[in-house]
Amino acid sequence: MSFLHAARRTTPQIRVADIVIGSGAPIVVQSMTNTDTEDITATTNQVHELAQAGSELVRITVNTSAAAEAVPHIRRRLNALGCTVPLIGDFHYNGHRLLTEYPECAQALAKYRINPGNVGKNRKGEDQFAMMIGVARKYDKAVRIGVNWGSLDQDLIVRMMDENSRLAEPRAANEITREALIMSALQSAQRAEELGLAHDRIVLSCKVSDVQDLIAVYQELARRCDYALHLGLTEAGMGSKGIVASTAALAVLLQQGIGDTIRVSLTPAPGGARTEEVVVAQEILQTMDLRAFAPMVTACPGCGRTTSTVFQELAQSIQAYLRAQMPLWREQYQGVEEMTVAVMGCIVNGPGESKLANIGISLPGTGETPSAPVYVDGEKTVTLRGENIAQEFQQIVDAYVASNYARKAH
Ligand code: SF4
Repeated sequence: MSFLHAARRTTPQIRVADIVIGSGAPIVVQSMTNTDTEDITATTNQVHELAQAGSELVRITVNTSAAAEAVPHIRRRLNALGCTVPLIGDFHYNGHRLLTEYPECAQALAKYRINPGNVGKNRKGEDQFAMMIGVARKYDKAVRIGVNWGSLDQDLIVRMMDENSRLAEPRAANEITREALIMSALQSAQRAEELGLAHDRIVLSCKVSDVQDLIAVYQELARRCDYALHLGLTEAGMGSKGIVASTAALAVLLQQGIGDTIRVSLTPAPGGARTEEVVVAQEILQTMDLRAFAPMVTACPGCGRTTSTVFQELAQSIQAYLRAQMPLWREQYQGVEEMTVAVMGCIVNGPGESKLANIGISLPGTGETPSAPVYVDGEKTVTLRGENIAQEFQQIVDAYVASNYARKAH
């Protein structure tokens, strides 16, 4: 890990099935399904895909009786596929009823997400919150108290706004909203502990959709408590906007040592892969040198020296190949995720950058000799020519992996 990162915040260690959160454990990548949980086949398949992509925890909506009934079936089907990824149940409004009426669902889930803004009001809300915490205690499950700007406890925010308006110098409204988010999370966590839930069974989150608000809220939350924190910019949006906004927010916090689990809440394009949010989360952590998940490809942007698309196609195909191989390689080879590959467009920076990578190829730019020198651990080993450069380079990568990374014992 780079010395530039602030030391991670000290938190209790939280076990969620086989996954450890906080207390210096690697930052955990989470994702969430967008299938109807009542559809057992679709949800099982998507959880499996997310896990295969590298999601270490997967959250599923549990919103109806049929969804609660489906959960243990989904768990069994995943187990049959050899997929042990822990499932988190996302509960709003009726979680108290579903968790108590469907004990198999409560047991099959590894963690419950409870939104304090959506558990009910006043005494009824307190009772319903207590019922969910009671189930978590009974089955020894972790709980994420997940506050969200869009569903903040309205009684709390109204009360805090009223108090603020009576001050001689009232604070700005969004400062009060930030404070209300933090108060909601901390008060709910305190209540959960009063109800007997252990300190090390609680994770907090306070999600908002604005980057500066998210940073401010989490910095303050981190200052005021030692609970493990789940980070995410909620409703980040689609495509590059969602990726950039999430990265901007999470990177600042992660650099400051804040955050024990992360999720990137991307809106998929119609027909787009849900797994994109997992890839982005991994890439945020890997490009920040916090974790390694899959070999990284360094590729130059191309310029007037690369007038054909050969080099772009090779960079794209090798990146896709490396990621596609990872589920298999992860099982077989120790440390392969730390391999670096360079695909460069011409002689200007190509050889230099290729020598810095474990494996690099410098393709010919316009007007250069049509040959592509390959460098392995800094040494030029072969020069590729002709139509099959992509396949031959892939074979060199395969051979490098097989001979440089120790086989894992099974
Ligand atoms: S390495 Fe060559 S092709 Fe790539 S950006 Fe630099 S000059 Fe352009």
